[in-house]
Formats: sequence, structure tokens, C-alpha cells
Amino acid sequence: MKKRFLWIAMMAFTLVFNLKAQDRPLQIIMIGAHPDDCDIKSGGTAALFVAMGHKVKFVSVTNGDAGHQSEGGGMLAKRRIAETQEVARRLGVAYDVLDNHDGELLPTLEIRLQIIRKIREWKADVVIAPRSNDYHPDHRYTGVLVQDAAFMVGVPNVAPDVEPLRKNPVFLYFQDNFKKPNPFQPDIAVDITPVIDKKLAGLDAHQSQFYEWLPWIGNYESEVPKDPSKHKEYLLAKRVQQPNPEVRKTLEKWYGKSRADQIKYAEAFEICEYGSQPTEQDIRRLFPMLGK
Ligand SMILES: [Zn+2]
Repeated sequence: MKKRFLWIAMMAFTLVFNLKAQDRPLQIIMIGAHPDDCDIKSGGTAALFVAMGHKVKFVSVTNGDAGHQSEGGGMLAKRRIAETQEVARRLGVAYDVLDNHDGELLPTLEIRLQIIRKIREWKADVVIAPRSNDYHPDHRYTGVLVQDAAFMVGVPNVAPDVEPLRKNPVFLYFQDNFKKPNPFQPDIAVDITPVIDKKLAGLDAHQSQFYEWLPWIGNYESEVPKDPSKHKEYLLAKRVQQPNPEVRKTLEKWYGKSRADQIKYAEAFEICEYGSQPTEQDIRRLFPMLGK
């Protein structure tokens, strides 16, 4: 309890300090293929930004209308949109769902323009998306679509109905475990141990996914606890990775060894070669939750 109070006090101090240090809150946009991808990859980091007074938007490029074994189409999309709005309430983020079919995403010009508009409208300082190496074609093409938007967000003649960004955001990738043609490189790692319950609360809002669809497609339906009071424990065991040795090394870089040794849960990001290339100082400004 005492620890929790200290953490809240620390966050309140950092909030005032950070908002003073710059004239407006940071605006972070995370872009996933499905209406639970951002939550899985960086729900904890989002919760930390929000606790520090910054603004986070999650975008799902598809409406999730294929993600169920016995439901589908418009009714499923509706159910999943409602789940995202519950996440928005629980995490304090904005959550937009683009109306493109799940399982059928292609990197078209039309969808590239949708993404350019979302990044511009949010006046994003940081954009986070999947890499384009992935088992799921929707994830892969979301990666391509965001890479294709990285330069165009500043070009006035492209999507001229929305004002272009004068400063190119920093583009980052979510962590993944794919190795070919090249493995994920954790350039930034965020300690999410203090907000792990928030992250789990976000995941828990996706009832159709974590308790129905994913256990069905993964053939582990019998592992889902019937008792909802056991759901968070289940999500923690099933959906939260322990930091691997590379991520541990990155945590040491940003937080120092003694704090890094205490960290139980982390989310990591790789810097994309497109968009603004941040210095170490820029990263500390854009990720004010990192240790000194
Ligand atoms: Zn997904």
C-alpha cells in the first residue's frame, strides 16, 4: 500500500515537472492491425504515458470482423468496437477502429491515406506499429502501411484535406519474436511493473478474444478459468512475456543495473529507420518514464 502511494506521488510530481518542461503533453499514436494488438504490445507503456499527463491513441487498422469461431461480420465488429471503448475507459486512451475487413488487409493507397490522416490529426510525436516480419498478413501489412506513411505525413499534396506535420514523428516498432530476415532489436525498454494490473485490465476488456477466440484457435479452451476472478492471473501467465536477455540489457541501459534487476515486466520498442531519428536525449524526452 505504502509503495503504491509513493508511486502515485512520484507520478504526480513527474506529471507537473514534465508538463512544465514542454508546452504541451506528448501525443503518442500506436497502430495495430486488430482491436487488441496495441493493448497486447504496449498497454503498460500507454498507461504510464497517461499517468504522466500525456495523450495516447490506439488505432486498429481493421475492424476485427473475422476474429471469432462462431460470430462474424458486422455484429462481431460492433462487439469488438464496444470492447475497445471499454479499454479506452480503463486505460484513459483514445481508441479508433478503422472500418477495413479483418484477415483481408492489403497495403493499398486508400488505407495508407487513412493512416496518414490519423497520424496528422493526432499531431503525433511518436508513432508505434508492428514490423513487417510477422506470421499474420494483417500485422505485416500494417507494418508496411505505417512505413509508407512515415515520409508522406509531411507532404502537403498528399491527403491535402488534413494539415501536414511540420516535424516528422519518431517511428518505432512493437516487440516481436520473429528472427528472419532480422530479429527485433530492443532500442528502448519500458518498465511496466507498476502498471501491470492496468495492462491486464485492458486485455480483460477484450472478452471475445482472450476468453473465446484465441483459446479456440490455439486449442487451449480448457485452460480458460470459469471463474472470472481468476482471469487476470490467467492473462498474466498466458499473455505477458518475461523480459528476454536483450530486453534486460536495454533496461539496464535506461534505468541502471540496480533498478533494472527489480523489473519484472517490460515492453520494448525498436527505432524505425524512417521518420525522425532520435538522440538519447530525445528518447528521454519522448519517454519520460525512463529512469535517469
Ligand atoms: Zn493482431
